[in-house]
Amino acid sequence: MSGRIVIVGLGPGGAETRTPQAEAALAAATDLIGYGPYIDRVPERPGQVRHASDNREEIDRARHALAIAEAGRVVAVVSSGDAGVFAMASAVFEAIEHGEPSWRGLDVSVVPGISAMFAAASRLGAPLGHDFCAISLSDNLKPWETVTRRLAAAASAGFVIALYNPASRARPWQLGAAFDLLRTILPGETPVAFATAVTTPAERITVTTLAAADPARADMRTLVMIGSPATRMIGRADGGAWLYTPRRADAPA
Ligand code: SAH
Repeated sequence: MSGRIVIVGLGPGGAETRTPQAEAALAAATDLIGYGPYIDRVPERPGQVRHASDNREEIDRARHALAIAEAGRVVAVVSSGDAGVFAMASAVFEAIEHGEPSWRGLDVSVVPGISAMFAAASRLGAPLGHDFCAISLSDNLKPWETVTRRLAAAASAGFVIALYNPASRARPWQLGAAFDLLRTILPGETPVAFATAVTTPAERITVTTLAAADPARADMRTLVMIGSPATRMIGRADGGAWLYTPRRADAPA
């Protein structure tokens, strides 16, 4: 038995944003495990078994992957973007920590991918050019109070904020509440960008300000980027805008 488990980031959507290393790991796998829509992004290969599951079963999915790897299969666990950013890699290590002692002997590797914040940043200009952080707005796995405390701390400290999971049908009000909180800390003219389905045919980018930002613009395929007080918006000839955060940060006045 020489089972292996490789946790693969598929990139933000478009096949051209998937790394050659990820392609090689997918090609070598006997089994694919992941959320159905992510599995659907991987071309079918003869003989490769595809285990598509629901989005909410991450820990069961991780345990299943470990069990079949232990039985000798070469298992690719797939996530969108980077598999370590709000995704399956943590679930696999959590399952190892609390699971069968024999799982610690498995060959486990992680293949990085282009995370949504990097794909979004590339469309906007260079908003992540200085210190930034990523916050998931989902309160499925953490209290809402933790989300608001971190948002306030990050905004007060001058970080650009990449917001993942800004909205879904089950979480309709959180982004509006986050904007309301940020408006008490940051100037109204702070740049805000909505980047939806980046690198897919449905890609849509909107650049606005914190004062004007409409939470209804976001859905579950949107990355919301909130500038820092240093982030600059450059008007473009076609009416659009670039965002960039200068490389130099001055001491506060
Ligand atoms: N592991 C993923 C993130 C999973 S959390 C990564 O590294 O990108 C899911 C959230 O990621 C979505 O709610 C959305 O905020 C963001 N996201 C994923 N794909 C995206 C895309 N193509 N365009 C914009 N945002 C995306």
